[in-house]
Amino acid sequence: MSTKISCEMAADLLPLYLEDSCSEDSRAALEEHLKNCPSCRAKLERMRSTLPGDLSVENPAPDLSAYAKKVRGHRLRITALALVSVLVLSLLGGILFLTVQRMMQQSSPTVYEVEPGTINLTEGAFRANAEDIGQYVFYTNFQQIKVEVQGSGGDQGTVYLYNTENPDSFIQVLHINKGKWDGTFTGLSAQWRYRITCEGLDGAVITVSEGRATGFFENMKAVLAEIMEMFGGKWDDVQVIHYRRD
Ligand SMILES: [Zn+2]
Repeated sequence: MSTKISCEMAADLLPLYLEDSCSEDSRAALEEHLKNCPSCRAKLERMRSTLPGDLSVENPAPDLSAYAKKVRGHRLRITALALVSVLVLSLLGGILFLTVQRMMQQSSPTVYEVEPGTINLTEGAFRANAEDIGQYVFYTNFQQIKVEVQGSGGDQGTVYLYNTENPDSFIQVLHINKGKWDGTFTGLSAQWRYRITCEGLDGAVITVSEGRATGFFENMKAVLAEIMEMFGGKWDDVQVIHYRRD
């Protein structure tokens, strides 16, 4: 049963009616009123046409899509930024992890068994007089052998490195002089055994080691150099050490 309503009440109901959110009774009453009231009917038509019309006048369609594009672009930028951040953080995390792992590995490297009579430098540094050092055979699992000279009588000397498989020819020479009392033989292999002799260093004590670095930045540099090498790059300053993994 419908109730009669005034134009004022109809005006109140019109927005709800347009939104389709007025009650069944209100709708019936309004529709009844509209049938008999041309001015409210006209108002309804006006409202119907101005609702979307206002939008299309003040915010024409191209602007809306431009705005949507802007919003999408903004969202895309935020997503890209988040992705890049995640990538950068993962990369940094990975480098940090590898650095710490390498530091631990360097301070307590895996010691491989070598035949008796060979000095395994992975176990630690070895020390002997310059005159006696030639008696010993060395093994390195670090692709390098570092030689440090202490208390030399003379101003300079030479250290030779031989491969025991081919003792007739030395493979590397280190010139030791007052400014530089240590040096490193590089590019060595765990497959071979090495012998070291000194010239002009009588009276000095020679410390032979793998020359592993345990500091954070040295290891981070090594990790970065390994990563660069993986991608075909090369960091001239840093020697990449390949471990024997058998
Ligand atoms: Zn009316």
